[in-house]
Amino acid sequence: MNAQRTNGKVTTKKRLLTGLRPTGKFHLGNYVGTFEKDLELLNSGEYECFFLIADLHSLTTGYETARLIGDDIREGLLDFLAVGIDPSKSTLYVQSLIPEVSELLLLFTMLVSVPRAQRIPTLKEQVRDLKLESASLGLLNYPVLQAADILMVRGEVVPVGKDQMSHIELTREIARRFNQLYGEVFPEPEGLSGRFPVLPGTDGKPKMSKSIGNTIMLSDDAESVRRKVMAMYTDPTRLRATDPGHIKGNPVFVYHDAFNPNLDEVQDLKSRYTKGKVGDVEVKQKLVAALNAFLDPIRERRAEYERQPGLLEDIIAEGSRRARLEARETLELTREAMGLNYFPRARQRVQEVGA
Ligand code: ATP
Ligand code: MG
Repeated sequence: MNAQRTNGKVTTKKRLLTGLRPTGKFHLGNYVGTFEKDLELLNSGEYECFFLIADLHSLTTGYETARLIGDDIREGLLDFLAVGIDPSKSTLYVQSLIPEVSELLLLFTMLVSVPRAQRIPTLKEQVRDLKLESASLGLLNYPVLQAADILMVRGEVVPVGKDQMSHIELTREIARRFNQLYGEVFPEPEGLSGRFPVLPGTDGKPKMSKSIGNTIMLSDDAESVRRKVMAMYTDPTRLRATDPGHIKGNPVFVYHDAFNPNLDEVQDLKSRYTKGKVGDVEVKQKLVAALNAFLDPIRERRAEYERQPGLLEDIIAEGSRRARLEARETLELTREAMGLNYFPRARQRVQEVGA
């Protein structure tokens, strides 16, 4: 835990880190996988929260389009703010503005064997989904870079979807191994799943994912939401509204459970659906209404921030400065622990170059 001074009192708050790749706008899956937990813990006042826009991570699968990342960072920041993350109560920052993270990554790569990195399930999935011939070293390093992000701010809790739990496990192994070899520097962070560890896609695939394109975006307008929902995959065995339908594995009902606060309505729809007493159209229309009601305040906040580009720049500058101070301190402790602090006077003079 990290000591913090609030209103003159020293308090200890747990550190939370959430990182998102700016590979496009964020979607409902990201919301239930991370944002919801982030908001709950941020608003509890018991956590010191770091929110990272992981632009270097975007390069692991999208280096050919690097020039577009600037826009994506802006969109990512807007999504963080739109869901209700308060920049005055948290640290919002951009990964590539913190060069220390790349050095920490390098140091951590010494602690991870190649077969261990190859065993991470998301690696095979990415290679398959993106039809890559083979993974680059950068992609192989993806979870090690994530470990560097988390441990750079000495994060203790990390809200993630189920797909990324294996990355948190690797982070814990790195922290443990480092501490065993060089002395206690890092906490062993804990991954926290939200209410829905994996939200399925609109096409019925198990995971809603930006790179698959089966998403409903947090920034979609009401008409896009209607169109996407009305075209959604449902129970394929059901040909007529009078056929008894299946709830299990039906993404329309998963979304109702996740986003429709009217539990009686959802219960009634489920009961009529299994008896063949309601058509898919009605179930979907009610979902459209629930989703649009859920998204309205998010859209409004987004539009408010969009009108203030200068404010966005200030939020990133302020957050990244704060994160960098933290990063310098952690890197100093890391080097010290590893015995990389030789020639202190020379080092001091070299550091003055960029100061
Ligand atoms: P990409 O396809 O580019 O990997 P993504 O849609 O998987 O994008 P990420 O930016 O990789 O989104 O994920 C950010 C966070 O959202 C991670 O914690 C991830 O586990 C979570 N997440 C992503 N998709 C889902 C989903 N469908 N259900 C629950 N959590 C999800
Ligand atoms: Mg992903």
